[in-house]
Amino acid sequence: MLGQMMTKPLLISSLIEHAARYHGDTPIVSVNTTGGGVEHTNWASVAMNARKLGSVLNQIGLDPQDRVATIAWNNRRHLEIYYGVSGAGFVCHTINPRLFPEQLVYIVNHAEDKVLFIEETFLPLAVNLRDQMPTLEHIVMMGPRNEKLAAEHDWLEFYDDFIAPGDMHFTWPEFDELTASSLCYTSGTTGHPKGVLYSHRSTMLHSFSTNSRDVIGYSAADVVMPVVPMFHVNAWGAPYGCAMSGSAMVMPGPDLHGEALVKLIDNHGVTCAMGVPTIWLGLLAYAKKSGSRLESLERTVIGGSACPPSMITEFRELYGVDTIHAWGMTELSPLGSANHPLAKHHSLPPEEQQRLRENQGRPPFGIDLKIVDDDYHDLPMDGVLQGDLLVQGHWVLDSYFRMEDTEILHDGWFATGDVSTLDPNGYMTIRDRSKDIIKSGGEWISSVELENIAVGHPKLANAAVIGVEHPKWDERPVLIAVAAEGETPTAEELLAYYDGKIAKWQIPDTVIFADALPLNATGKVLKRTLREQYGKVLIEAAS
Ligand code: ADP
Repeated sequence: MLGQMMTKPLLISSLIEHAARYHGDTPIVSVNTTGGGVEHTNWASVAMNARKLGSVLNQIGLDPQDRVATIAWNNRRHLEIYYGVSGAGFVCHTINPRLFPEQLVYIVNHAEDKVLFIEETFLPLAVNLRDQMPTLEHIVMMGPRNEKLAAEHDWLEFYDDFIAPGDMHFTWPEFDELTASSLCYTSGTTGHPKGVLYSHRSTMLHSFSTNSRDVIGYSAADVVMPVVPMFHVNAWGAPYGCAMSGSAMVMPGPDLHGEALVKLIDNHGVTCAMGVPTIWLGLLAYAKKSGSRLESLERTVIGGSACPPSMITEFRELYGVDTIHAWGMTELSPLGSANHPLAKHHSLPPEEQQRLRENQGRPPFGIDLKIVDDDYHDLPMDGVLQGDLLVQGHWVLDSYFRMEDTEILHDGWFATGDVSTLDPNGYMTIRDRSKDIIKSGGEWISSVELENIAVGHPKLANAAVIGVEHPKWDERPVLIAVAAEGETPTAEELLAYYDGKIAKWQIPDTVIFADALPLNATGKVLKRTLREQYGKVLIEAAS
């Protein structure tokens, strides 16, 4: 006997229609790409433009599930494209603008993108690479018509003109919820980038999950600022989760420096913001300098790489902001865990409660985690033994796009490439990426742990730790340190700072001072570049 309840496919179009109908006048603040001005719109208008775009994509003759690409910042047009493309049954392919041109060309060709929406800032990319991307039928600049550019490039179209003939009452098509909705390629530190193809169903279930209180829990009373880019795993799902809850949004555009972000928070009453730790380092530095109290901010969601405990403390003690440390990856849509306390934790001493908030947190319903040894045998959840982290769930990939024949799962589990521990309550601590872990004399040292400590030093702005070749120990940790503005820390004081915080043999062998750390396209430290640069320093010193 079947249940006798309505069955409606879980489609992304239902999110924007909900937001338009019940939260139509809720503001969407959007920083323009050029000039930095701010535009005010709302969910009703975003929905109207999305419908117009959806109908135009049909008018120009795209086939269902054709790929429509974006190279764009976080702004309202990008939001409209998210909904217009997926809602109308096409695949929204977000591309990271900071990729190497060869990778970008590879991705567009691999996905066979038909339409490319691009910010004016990135127009030179389109001009230079257009010939190498033969599947593109339309290149549309995200803005109003620009006569000068139109005269220079007769192939260039303009977003506002492009959607103008669209039908604002366009009815979203209904189709199977397993249909592909969006596509995101992993940054590809080795080999070609690989595509993760999300479905309407996986995106909707991920949105329900992010909207639960123990994940992010957006609310209609929130003003949400996704600092994490919309080309980085769909801004962690914020554009969907916020429409589902009817949150107001502040789309920060291209300038993600501390000053710009602090001003957006203060001017628009942002209550919830999310991003990678490097972004928050800049924000905290500027908040301190400017004296901003970050009055409206209630919580930050920090992930993408390990959030240093000192950052959680600074947010809490100086600004009364709660930090939700979260973990995820492109292959997981991306959220896999988030750190919130359990009821039994409330009776613990405050320091103990704070310490428990530092790890990457628990998986929400819908995600399962386990750790295994090299032979894929399960390891206990004792919070001590570390192993390869495997994951399974409703929004975890099954195979990479156009690599369906390559089996990537082990017994139905996806190997994340992370090394972690799980405690008896399911709290996960990422020890390292398996390729970044430092193997010293047969023992493992977590680079993440060493970085977390270093970043807590008041004279440092940022720090990375890498494993460096060593004649006796195979590898030893070396600290790459970036001094805070106006500070000149010595190697001795930085190394002394580790005393009593970790075992002596884990303390880095030496310190290298750098002006900045090399970051990848999503703001993560490029350890491989650091290893290439400094991988021989200890060998050279010994000889
Ligand atoms: P890429 O793998 O190309 O960097 P992702 O954004 O998918 O792209 O990165 C996923 C990886 O980022 C995870 O496997 C993990 O190593 C790291 N990561 C994400 N969040 C955290 C976190 N909170 N703490 C530590 N590492 C994290």
